[in-house]
Amino acid sequence: MYETDLQVIAAIAAGKDEENDHFLRSLAHHDDEMLDAMALELNGTVGGAISCTDCGNCCNHLIVNITHEEITGLSKFLDMPEPELREKYIEESLVGNCFINSVPCHFLADKKCSIYEGRFTECRDFPHLHKSGFRKRFLGTLLHYGSCPIIFNVVEVMKRRLGFVIAE
Ligand code: SF4
Ligand code: SF4
Repeated sequence: MYETDLQVIAAIAAGKDEENDHFLRSLAHHDDEMLDAMALELNGTVGGAISCTDCGNCCNHLIVNITHEEITGLSKFLDMPEPELREKYIEESLVGNCFINSVPCHFLADKKCSIYEGRFTECRDFPHLHKSGFRKRFLGTLLHYGSCPIIFNVVEVMKRRLGFVIAE
């Protein structure tokens, strides 16, 4: 029903840059609340039909931002002193934003999150389709169109529902 083969999705996505660019611009003609509601609904139906535990591909691509509180929580979860944890796994920008210092993520093991119960808000929230502001975030969403089966399929369903066609 939905395409989930990562290689097939990547191959299709490689030829869709122009189409997706047009789709991005076409969203300006739609009501934001309607788009948010559609993305939320499709996140449930499409996301419910695709097994993230069989995929794990976002963990190969995401730069995961984390908070200082989450670092403290992970330190307890891993029973590792916070300075050691920061040294090994965390990068901090000049303005104090923290993120996991490796892509793919350090904590990905055999397509699974090795700290699943202690994973971060950004991991739990990805692909962020349940949040309001779908249209404003859509450029960022498209960055994962060729690597996240949920995003790929949600975007394709949205194109059909919205009657999207590329203008000549
Ligand atoms: S912490 Fe876990 S869920 Fe988050 S990116 Fe790393 S492996 Fe994936
Ligand atoms: S959110 Fe997307 S990329 Fe991540 S595991 Fe689920 S389907 Fe795969």
